Amino acid sequence: MSLGHRSIVILLSAFAFSACSTTPTARKLAQDSVAAMGGAEKLTAIKNITMKDGTGTRLRLGQMVKATDQEAPADLKNVVDIVDLVNRRASLDYELNNRGFMQHRHEILTRLGDKPVGIEIVGTRPIIATTAGGLFSWGSQDSPEFLIRRNVVSIAIAAADSASETEQAQDKELNGKMYKYASIKTKSGEDVGLYFDPQSKMLAAYEVVDTEPILGDVQAQYILSDYKPVNGVSLPHHITIRKDGKDYSDVQFASISTNDPAIEQAFAIPDSAQEEATKAAATDEYSPMKIVKVATGVYQAAGYSHNTLIVEYPQWLALVDSPYTETQGKVLWRAIQEQFPKKPVKYVAVSHYHYDHIGGLRMAAAMGATILVAKEHEPIIRPLLEARHTHPPDELDKRRNAQPAEQTGSIETYEGKKVIAEGGQSLELYPVSFPEHVDPMVLAYASSAHALFQPDLYTPPALANGGPTAQHLLKAIKELNLKVDTMVGGHGGIGTFADFVKAAAPPASSN
Ligand SMILES: [Zn+2]
Repeated sequence: MSLGHRSIVILLSAFAFSACSTTPTARKLAQDSVAAMGGAEKLTAIKNITMKDGTGTRLRLGQMVKATDQEAPADLKNVVDIVDLVNRRASLDYELNNRGFMQHRHEILTRLGDKPVGIEIVGTRPIIATTAGGLFSWGSQDSPEFLIRRNVVSIAIAAADSASETEQAQDKELNGKMYKYASIKTKSGEDVGLYFDPQSKMLAAYEVVDTEPILGDVQAQYILSDYKPVNGVSLPHHITIRKDGKDYSDVQFASISTNDPAIEQAFAIPDSAQEEATKAAATDEYSPMKIVKVATGVYQAAGYSHNTLIVEYPQWLALVDSPYTETQGKVLWRAIQEQFPKKPVKYVAVSHYHYDHIGGLRMAAAMGATILVAKEHEPIIRPLLEARHTHPPDELDKRRNAQPAEQTGSIETYEGKKVIAEGGQSLELYPVSFPEHVDPMVLAYASSAHALFQPDLYTPPALANGGPTAQHLLKAIKELNLKVDTMVGGHGGIGTFADFVKAAAPPASSN
């Protein structure tokens, strides 16, 4: 360094020092916020946080009737979010009410030995285990894993440790109020923007890129309020999350506890899931899946909740739906490659865009499949396939951005009926409006087997209580003049058409 350069550095340092007296540095603000929360010693002594009795709303579930509809918020109640900062475990337990669809869900990222394992406890269905990425949630986040990286204690401590000692805070507006703003880079390399309240000194919000399972990279804002004393520190009881400028979740917690030994119960692996958890811990990607034969050349790949139809052609395969999570998509791909080692998947058709049915689509595109999409579904499916997924990168993002880029599948849209026929096998796709659930739902008919696949309208092999959607489905099948022998469920199993007809019958009058 020349003398001239050194004197400039000295001058700049002197300037920074003098400016300190008027504008706080990022480090000072971050340290003040930690002090306002109770001090670094008390915050670093927090091993786990339990946020209880939460009530609020959740959006971005993607359950709209039409792809272009505005989404209405679902209600959340009895929300319990737990994060174990020491062992990197997290749990989301809540009751969801989405336009009358009610479910008590509990998604747990726990550990078996030193391996992370996902446990899902939902309603009356069997408790299952997955690898960490196989968890699906409609709670305050899409996955409990977010709580580990996005909780206020970890962010506040990281800010006080790493915020710049020379960078001056800026004035920045958020929701009509002015804050002191600074940015940090966390140890894991993420850029986080921090908003400090100039009066209370508290951390009022932070923003960071979240990679959502469906939406991909989004600019996320975590807005913190209602700071109240908790065991010697002060923690926010109201957390509002916005992603890409739109409401995501908003939960008011009644109480919070720290270092509560009772959290061990939430992270215990239930006996009925022990065997499966052992399988999950032993592999990179695990989600329950089995391929069940429907008829010659037609199969159901049954996940633990959401399923895929497989139609076998002489040289290749066509699928309908790759649902739920990227992990389930990977497991599906592995199962298909084992059972049909010489047959690539040429097409994956989409029954509908509800987010729980499309979580594996990017994996399908990564593997080179053409994604067949009804024109009406394109407004949701195309951006999903085009999005970046960088934190961490998913398989499609990795392959597309490899040097040189690898070949991946693209989207192909169609209007009205679409038929994929070759070598005596055919799959017919019929978009039909079901305004009570989705408009349109694509009914998939494997004509060689006389098998009809759809999710959400009727769950085979139920014999009764199909309700209005089942009645509507029966009417649609008759209008399309399809000869159906077998119903293959996008949920549930495989049933006969005769049983479906019974289930679709209106309930007998009670008088
Ligand atoms: Zn649906």
